[in-house]
Amino acid sequence: MNLAIFPRRGYLQGPTPIEACPAFSKALGGKVNVYIKRDDLLPGCAGGNKTRKLDFCMADALEQGADTIITCGAVQSNHCRLTLSWSVKEGLDCHLVLEERVKGSYDPESSGNNFLFQLMGVKSITVVPGGSNMLGEMQALADKLRAEGRKPYIIPGGASNTIGATGYVACAQETLEQLFEMGLRIDHMVVPSGSAGTHAGIVVGMEGCNANIPVSGINVSRTKADQEALVLKLARATAERVGLRGELRAEAVTCFDGYVGPGYSIPTDSMVEAVKLLARTEGILLDPVYSGKAMAGLVDLVRKEYFPEGSNVLFLHTGGSPALYAYLKSFR
Ligand SMILES: *Cc1c(COP(=O)(O)O)cnc(C)c1O
Repeated sequence: MNLAIFPRRGYLQGPTPIEACPAFSKALGGKVNVYIKRDDLLPGCAGGNKTRKLDFCMADALEQGADTIITCGAVQSNHCRLTLSWSVKEGLDCHLVLEERVKGSYDPESSGNNFLFQLMGVKSITVVPGGSNMLGEMQALADKLRAEGRKPYIIPGGASNTIGATGYVACAQETLEQLFEMGLRIDHMVVPSGSAGTHAGIVVGMEGCNANIPVSGINVSRTKADQEALVLKLARATAERVGLRGELRAEAVTCFDGYVGPGYSIPTDSMVEAVKLLARTEGILLDPVYSGKAMAGLVDLVRKEYFPEGSNVLFLHTGGSPALYAYLKSFR
């Protein structure tokens, strides 16, 4: 794939590391070797996966002459934190629409990402009830700002459109190049699957490069069937954008939904165990909503011997650790 044809801002400063995790692997029984792709170390305030997507989305916004960015997310959204961070860097205003997916969960005084919204000088926060039409809410805000003479640009939740997902097509290419240089064979990749841009982009990149590395998505909110349909739809649209020939195989998209627990952003015991285990064996911080639940999935799959003995499994660490500070009670 020739991704050089797509406008991008250049937010990355080279490939993120791929790290062996020998102590963590040993704690899981030592039959599988876990490696971590450290996208939690991407640039942008406190890092994380949205930087790769915003690299492309912000370029599109600037090409269209925007002076204001509007985006949306949950009350502790990492995506909102990073969109705000890159807006600050670009000298653009940033407005957030937050969905209170868990009733009563928005607290303007809370820590974590919410604190960082204030610290980085968000222009406005609009809180709407769970299940609201987020695009409609953002469009209403855009109309209001346009009437005030602004030029707003809407980035969808998680920057999960074909423009944003292109960032994760690039990540798959980057990963394969790195594995080649390291002389490292990876048998399976595990990624968090939320608004789907990350999972879809990785699948498109791996398929487009004929990598033959199966990718498993671990859901953080939806059922297996709903999430697989969402990922496949975005993956096919992204594949078309980046020029893959033929239709993307439906079998390339696999999701597991056994690690969501009672619902999106609600802590689970297995998430707490996974976060503590990785912190105590490797000194790497996960987050309670995405990477912690995704790692709980990986841990369970290892224990169930889903991966053959001797497998090298690559986990995509999408970041999110600031949210830990809004969940202290779950870890004490
Ligand atoms: C947004 C996010 C994800 C999920 O990525 P999607 O592209 O939305 O599926 C995973 N981890 C973290 C930390 C995130 O902020």
